[in-house]
Amino acid sequence: MQQPVWFGLPVGHSPGKVCAMRRDLNRLANTEFDLLVIGGGILGAGIARDAALRGLRVALVEQRDFASGTSSRSTKLIHGGFRYLEQGAVKLVAESCRERAILQRIAPHLVKPLSFLFVVYEGDRRPLWLMRAGLTLYDWLARGRAPGRHRAMTAAETRAEEPALQSTGLRGAVLFYDCQEDDARFCIDNIHHAADLGAVCVNYCGVTGLVRRGDRVVAASVEAGFEVRAKWFINATGVWAGRLASSVKLAPTKGVHLVVPRVTRQHGVFWQARDGRLVFVIPWWGESLVGSTDTDYAGDPAAARAEPADVNYLLSELRRRFPNASTEVITSFAGVRPLLAGTEAPSARSREHQLVREGANFLSVIGGKYTTYRAIAAEVVEATGLTRAQCQTDTTPLPRYRPSPNGERFSSLPDVWESDVRYAWEEEMALTLSDVMRRRTPLALTRHGDAETAARVAAILGRYAGWSESEQRAQLKAYLGAREHGTL
Ligand SMILES: Cc1cc2nc3c(=O)[nH]c(=O)nc-3n(C[C@H](O)[C@H](O)[C@H](O)COP(=O)(O)OP(=O)(O)OC[C@H]3O[C@@H](n4cnc5c(N)ncnc54)[C@H](O)[C@@H]3O)c2cc1C
Repeated sequence: MQQPVWFGLPVGHSPGKVCAMRRDLNRLANTEFDLLVIGGGILGAGIARDAALRGLRVALVEQRDFASGTSSRSTKLIHGGFRYLEQGAVKLVAESCRERAILQRIAPHLVKPLSFLFVVYEGDRRPLWLMRAGLTLYDWLARGRAPGRHRAMTAAETRAEEPALQSTGLRGAVLFYDCQEDDARFCIDNIHHAADLGAVCVNYCGVTGLVRRGDRVVAASVEAGFEVRAKWFINATGVWAGRLASSVKLAPTKGVHLVVPRVTRQHGVFWQARDGRLVFVIPWWGESLVGSTDTDYAGDPAAARAEPADVNYLLSELRRRFPNASTEVITSFAGVRPLLAGTEAPSARSREHQLVREGANFLSVIGGKYTTYRAIAAEVVEATGLTRAQCQTDTTPLPRYRPSPNGERFSSLPDVWESDVRYAWEEEMALTLSDVMRRRTPLALTRHGDAETAARVAAILGRYAGWSESEQRAQLKAYLGAREHGTL
């Protein structure tokens, strides 16, 4: 049976050196940087790491916690995106397949192969032969670097693999491979490595305005009350990008996932929903992720959440293909896709990225996929012309950051210990209980994100942070409220 994906290290690892991930406001205020990256999602993190590896003086500022935007709310796949073949996005799929292979190579502890069944039922718009043809092309685009080769299965073989599947009308399936990750952890590790390479990365320090002189930006004002000076400014604020760059036009869509009790035996499963879209269930820390919706969203990105209609849609699709699946929802989360404006329906909107330059030294980067972040980051750094140094992110391993397990144990799946909480506080700039539960560890998106475990984690954090009992209670209340509303 396939093992669930672990976001960190084999037990026993220690980074073995003093970490440089510090909230150094003094350095931020008193250095003239080559590059200021605005936004601590995966694109900002990737740009900071790429630029630091090329020897540039880099700063990164994030308005809330690192990875708190879309980059902790994805499906958590590092994938070629076979469904984009339907839209003719062959170039994007080929690039994603290439990046999938690179990310597996540089971060094998985070990016793990996962098998999927694309199941086909009587009356589906996409017949089995078409899926087989599509996945043949998908494997071919990976040029021999796919995590495994696809294979067609009869209905009986499909049921033998996943006995909980609805048998009535089942025509068969195609087995194929992609990769799974923990998106928040992957982003934090990119920030951590950038910091180790000398980048000044600061969370809870949003940019409130840009100081311009002629067609140049000379500084960015930050919430901490000072200006950060740099030669180039990169707007990597995802779905918030239009707030800093007037020429950026987005058409965001919301995607909801539910964490539910384990549904499948070992595979991820895709199927065609009643409305023709694709929905899926994926193994996740001994439970399952069901997703996702894809609907236009014009509200505040930070307030995006699973509405009752989203939950009903996903649960009813789940029960259509897994009739005995429980209707319990352990928790949910919603992310907003920073898609470029277009006239297409939400799920057909382009996943390509775009660089938008305003003036001499201000560049916005929007769109793209988590999977392609590394290549996009390299393109951004090169677009500034700040250095001729070669990109090194395709060959430089992403270090493994995790302390040796020690102290009280909070959960075995995922494997989280008191030492992880301490490490998050002391070495990874976690400032709140939610930072630890949701983004330094994956506890919040599992059963172990409940009030009992959260209270134990809050008590330990309280000791390190010097929180009073009422501060601890306030942290717990904020965490549990956000988890219940699906806005963590
Ligand atoms: C539901 C869903 C599922 C997805 N699934 C996948 C998948 O499985 N695989 C895949 O490859 N891709 C997937 N994606 C796409 C992927 O998640 C995104 O492309 C990626 O996370 C975007 O990263 P980002 O850094 O551009 O944005 P974000 O992660 O949103 O980062 C932007 C950051 O900027 C910060 N910010 C905003 N304004 C300011 C300011 N003024 N000052 C400082 N900081 C600021 C925000 O707080 C935020 O943290 C999915 C997306 C969604 C929504």
